[in-house]
Amino acid sequence: MPDELGDLLETLDCCDGTVFDLIKSEKFEELAGKILKNTVRNPYQTLELANSLRAERCGDVVTFVVNRNVNFTDFCVNRCKFCSFRNSRGYVLSAEEVEKKVREAIEYGCTEVCLQGGLMPGADVEFYVSLLKTVRKVSKEVHIHAFSPMEVLHASRNSGCCVEDALKEFKKAGLNSMPGTAAEIFDDCIRKEICPGKLSVVRWFEVVKTAHELGIPTTATMMYGHVEGWKERIKHMLLIRKLQVETSGFTEFIPLTFLWKNNELGKRVKGCSGFEDLLVVAVSRIVLDGAINNIQASWVKFGVKLAQAALFAGANDLGGTLMEENISRAAGSDSGEFLKVEEFVELIKRCNRTPAERDTLYNILRVFS
Ligand code: SF4
Repeated sequence: MPDELGDLLETLDCCDGTVFDLIKSEKFEELAGKILKNTVRNPYQTLELANSLRAERCGDVVTFVVNRNVNFTDFCVNRCKFCSFRNSRGYVLSAEEVEKKVREAIEYGCTEVCLQGGLMPGADVEFYVSLLKTVRKVSKEVHIHAFSPMEVLHASRNSGCCVEDALKEFKKAGLNSMPGTAAEIFDDCIRKEICPGKLSVVRWFEVVKTAHELGIPTTATMMYGHVEGWKERIKHMLLIRKLQVETSGFTEFIPLTFLWKNNELGKRVKGCSGFEDLLVVAVSRIVLDGAINNIQASWVKFGVKLAQAALFAGANDLGGTLMEENISRAAGSDSGEFLKVEEFVELIKRCNRTPAERDTLYNILRVFS
């Protein structure tokens, strides 16, 4: 890491105060500007640096998780302008249907079940607890990765309780970790424009920090390639880094490129280029260096070939098998819904890297040498 960049990140790590102080700090703006100058303006150097940091931190191993998505409903009270999933089919899975999907997942060898859905009117803590119990009825061992910070807030509001109590109930019912989705981009002005009903930046960090303090790890995400710019992206990554220094609760960072089909925002903006996607991966590897080791290239968002290219731009993980994928598919992703273990192994080997199956928390389960 060049001295200047390393010093800038150290300034952030050592500055007094919490992530909430940083959000309000004027110095934050200045810091993001300096990091921007040191990365994006030299794209080829940035890609090279990110690749060498990846090699130093993670070696040649490329991981993936064998998991299944269960999107239990597409009914949603929100109207995010980038969303193509909301009310696209108008369904709620019954407990039997959820159970069947979880059984299929276990039969395939999934170690993780990921539950996420729209914000169904009136869905309260009890509703979400019953989903967790349905999964636990099928398997005591499978890792349950479930409910975005927005879903947690929605449940707590509908039950008239605080977020902490909702999370405690979820943990008691079997929740192991949470997706750090609903992060979109950490800029309240942009959020008002693209997802006005969604929780604010401060609220997102409150929910995630509470989860981390209760021993519920989360992923960290960023949706980019719409109306934001590089400065907002870097500020987003810096806030993630700051909370990680405080809690160590993030398992990975997942840059999610905006998919523009079948949504309102897509009428105005068409997403960014593949080269810019690679640069986002590279900048996140650099900005999060020493804080978050795992940078994921999502094959369902990028497509398999760009995800392979991202392995040379700082990424060390390709996400999960998924088995079904409704959210990106609705927004025009044509990458498919299910990438089998043997396909992961093959596509990683073609990059001259070592494939390894991991669990949700990045423990290596098997290496395919
Ligand atoms: S992104 Fe999520 S919260 Fe927003 S409208 Fe779609 S389903 Fe609802």
